[in-house]
Amino acid sequence: LMPSDTIMLPRDKLLGFATEGGSRLSHVAILASALRIPAVVGIGAFVDDIESGEFALLDGTSGTLTVRPTQLQIDGFQSQVVRREELEERFSVITTEPAVMKDGERVHLFANLELPDELERIAESGVDGIGLYRTEYGYLSREDLPSEDELYQDYKRVARAFKPLPVTFRTLDLGADKALPLLRNHENLEGIEHLRSIRLCLRYPDLWIPQLRALWRAARHGDVQIMFPAIPGVTEFRAAKELALTVRDDLKREGVACADELRMGLMIELPSAVIVSDLLALEADFFSIGTNDLIPYSLGLERAYMDATMVSEPYHPSIIRSVRHVVQEASRHEIPVTVCGEIAGDPFYVLPLIGLGVRRLSMSPASAAQIKRVLRYATVGEAEAFVGSVLRLPTAQAVDYELHRYLLEHYAHLLVANVAASE
Ligand code: PEP
Ligand code: MG
Repeated sequence: LMPSDTIMLPRDKLLGFATEGGSRLSHVAILASALRIPAVVGIGAFVDDIESGEFALLDGTSGTLTVRPTQLQIDGFQSQVVRREELEERFSVITTEPAVMKDGERVHLFANLELPDELERIAESGVDGIGLYRTEYGYLSREDLPSEDELYQDYKRVARAFKPLPVTFRTLDLGADKALPLLRNHENLEGIEHLRSIRLCLRYPDLWIPQLRALWRAARHGDVQIMFPAIPGVTEFRAAKELALTVRDDLKREGVACADELRMGLMIELPSAVIVSDLLALEADFFSIGTNDLIPYSLGLERAYMDATMVSEPYHPSIIRSVRHVVQEASRHEIPVTVCGEIAGDPFYVLPLIGLGVRRLSMSPASAAQIKRVLRYATVGEAEAFVGSVLRLPTAQAVDYELHRYLLEHYAHLLVANVAASE
């Protein structure tokens, strides 16, 4: 399933899906969450073992697929559903309150947005704004390129829906597994299938300029900031900023209404950007750490082909150290830093992130309630002491084990994913 297929799945005919390949970091998994389709990905070979029409239990929260369940398993599954609803219900007041830790420390929780259809639901989820709007999804579900005006209407709607809260538009992040079939056949775009993200946009500015124009125009209607994806270093960040500013000057010259200023930041999702984050911090208004790409790029993996044997990789010591370094540089240069990869919504990661100094997390809105619950019961001191011990662990597996052990020992009663284990 490519992201473009997933977007077009007939939602009224679908209860959920499971795939042999992929991982939690796949765009397919991210989209399933946005579309509220229960999904389990990266199971490994299983399709040959089941027949069409067979009964199965699919649990997207714990990531399990039970084929041909026994009556006992069905009953257990049903009581878990009830337990989860009770848990959500019991803590529902927290959902709309700000995320404040036990010692009063305020944490900002933002939502990741893929499709404007999700707007109303997100607005009700009590988040502090949009920390990552993946604008390329608006391109993936269509046969042609959107016009500047169409983009402007979409972006204006999003900016207005959250006003006065901030919305961070991540500019076009196409390529790799988010390939646009329509670009492949386009003349004059030679080699485009080998380029991605900001490199693709900088090489083919004509593709990108309509979006930049739409963003400057929409920025009048709310608290809008933009960030560029997969920035390798200062050269690309400067080039992106320069193009964005030229676009603004053109709009002004043409007499088109648009914002005068826009905060411009970048995603730290390549190891090179981590290493030069001190230099980038001098020129950027903010950072956002994208661990979904940082993990595979750091560890020599292909994002679309991480499977069920690679569950510990997000907990690799290099990732924790990368976050620590970027947070230190951001703080030294006094710019805000958000974590917006999937780890931001992982309840097992939240204490280490707080311990490293992260105070802004952007996640799938479905994760916000659970993260808020953990934050409510923890203190900064506890998180700092915990991450200190985690930083001494030498392997991803050891960190994975320790993060799970600690949370299950202290916070099991707050976790939806742990319902099965705690019973
Ligand atoms: C990331 O890479 O961590 C990220 C947030 O962006 P995406 O998942 O869209 O690549
Ligand atoms: Mg990314």
